[in-house]
Amino acid sequence: MSVPPPIAMLAELTHRCPLSCPYCSNPVQLERKETELGTEAWTDVFQQAHAMGVLQLHLSGGEPASRRDLEDLTEAAAGIGLYTNLITSGIGLTPRRLDRLEAVGLDHVQLSLQGTTAKLADRIGGYRGGFDRKMAIAKEISARGIPLTLNAVMHRQNLDDLDRTIEMAVELGARRLEVACVQFHGWAMSNRAALLPTRQQTMAVKQTVAGAAQRLQGVLAFDFVPPDYYADYPKACMGGWGSSGLNVTPNGTVLPCHAAQTIPHLAFENVREKPLLDIWRASSAFNAYRGTEWLPEPCKSCERKETDFGGCRCQALALAGDAGVTDPICKKSPKHKEVVKVLLERRFEEDQTLLHRSF
Ligand code: SF4
Ligand code: SF4
Repeated sequence: MSVPPPIAMLAELTHRCPLSCPYCSNPVQLERKETELGTEAWTDVFQQAHAMGVLQLHLSGGEPASRRDLEDLTEAAAGIGLYTNLITSGIGLTPRRLDRLEAVGLDHVQLSLQGTTAKLADRIGGYRGGFDRKMAIAKEISARGIPLTLNAVMHRQNLDDLDRTIEMAVELGARRLEVACVQFHGWAMSNRAALLPTRQQTMAVKQTVAGAAQRLQGVLAFDFVPPDYYADYPKACMGGWGSSGLNVTPNGTVLPCHAAQTIPHLAFENVREKPLLDIWRASSAFNAYRGTEWLPEPCKSCERKETDFGGCRCQALALAGDAGVTDPICKKSPKHKEVVKVLLERRFEEDQTLLHRSF
């Protein structure tokens, strides 16, 4: 099979983070500092990624500012021509560090938002004082003119604040707001009862985002990740498995998506042992669900198969117990009624207890 190169790479520089969000996309088994790739090894990965055709590098975590060499890594990536996007909670950044990041060529910052008030945001993030520090650093980012996206992860406990979230994005000078409804993998799956939106919230969020996107044209752009469980069709996870992006974990393991390690029968390779290009093109894990050849029925004969590629493999495993079947979110899936419908009939409203992520 000829395999086109990926466009984007997510570099999870570390799993360390001062916050402990209950929906963190990091795996439940977090990788410790001792296992992290060093500065030279990451620089080599960036060079390999650039050579194979990657254009955008997302410097992520955990909290990437937990690494003292973040500025050096950004300089290395920007120096070879990668577009650099820093995905951060803002905690650990200082005006001085921002100055250096700007000077070495950081292109963009994506700042997470846990809530619109200190009370809510600090409860969700599990870090007292985090909200005030985040607001201060957001102003520093805007003052420097570094393009800013606000990444608001939305769920039942903060969806009713969406109007205020949008106002805040404008006030902070963000150019883009990502309204990302929680996807239920890893830590979020452990907290599903406390985070799953209601049907009413799901209807309202779509309308609010559509209305605001029209009203704020030219001021604020929107990215919208809708709630999954109420949809008729699944999303094309990662734009299709092994098609346009890859993730590298703190210890150098290369994944088709951040949750892929939940699929136990796949063996993932590591940049310490193999060139990135070989892993991308030839590893059994990347080829397991690439393209449409592997698709089961009803996907195989479905007109949407080039649109959503049968949905998310990790979700198929989590909900149907098999990563190789049609994503049960799809209304055509034989498991849809049995799994999703039954789930949505449960009364979650009373459950507010959060399990924060931890090592
Ligand atoms: S989701 Fe929260 S805990 Fe996870 S890396 Fe981001 S800020 Fe840290
Ligand atoms: S049957 Fe498969 S390809 Fe068709 S919409 Fe559902 S998940 Fe997508």
